[in-house]
Amino acid sequence: MLKRMPVLFSGHGSPMLALEQSDATRELRAVGDRVIEQFGKSKAILAISAHWYTRGTFVQTAESPKQVYDMYGFPKELYDYQYPVQGCPALGERVCELLGDRVRVSNDWGIDHGTWTVLCHMFPAADIPVVQLSVDGTISREAIFEIGRQLAPLRDEGYLIFASGNVVHNLRRVEWENPNGSEACIAFNETVKEKIAARDDRAVMQYERLEHAAYAVPTPDHFLPLLYTLGAAEGEKPAVFNDRCNLGAIAMTGFAFGMDET
Ligand code: ZN
Repeated sequence: MLKRMPVLFSGHGSPMLALEQSDATRELRAVGDRVIEQFGKSKAILAISAHWYTRGTFVQTAESPKQVYDMYGFPKELYDYQYPVQGCPALGERVCELLGDRVRVSNDWGIDHGTWTVLCHMFPAADIPVVQLSVDGTISREAIFEIGRQLAPLRDEGYLIFASGNVVHNLRRVEWENPNGSEACIAFNETVKEKIAARDDRAVMQYERLEHAAYAVPTPDHFLPLLYTLGAAEGEKPAVFNDRCNLGAIAMTGFAFGMDET
């Protein structure tokens, strides 16, 4: 019998995360190790990245998706970094079955830095295939939550659902010399953690009503991946990992649903 796989949301921050060895990356590694210990290696990972932000919902079916270096102005070593995972056409096709006409196949994109800068720490062996699902920037939060719900059966079929974004992400307000979060960053992060712990999903979906929302979520792209995970893990209490803010305006906070602890 397969155990029901957990659902993970992770912050990703600067793409330099891929090259870092820090408390944050060690914690990502520990989460990945615990997933494998508690559940075994998943057949594949369905990755929902803030950096594949589209009109409509798309899923990949490529055997060997390309790694996308969708960031600019970083050192060459980051563009040389490889996380060479395979795709999983069977998972892409299964997503199409589950979502029906709400999803279309596209292999134009690949595995982007929202995904690989985190998974390279969680699952450094790069031996678990990855399929990306895009974040639809045109549908309601309720519709996003509902897509998450419809994907939940994947968990019983040996697939790990993973989303990458940020609870707080404001590039205009980044403080490059600040290793911690600003007051507003920390406050918003705390509020979102409380709402998720209480499974007040409505409050999370209507995040602009929360204090500091305009600062924390100036655009929805990095926040919306979280809503897919709430739907895929409806009613489940999260374990929080990497509860840390950096660069003033970035929260790295992650949530693991369906795991005893991280
Ligand atoms: Zn990002």
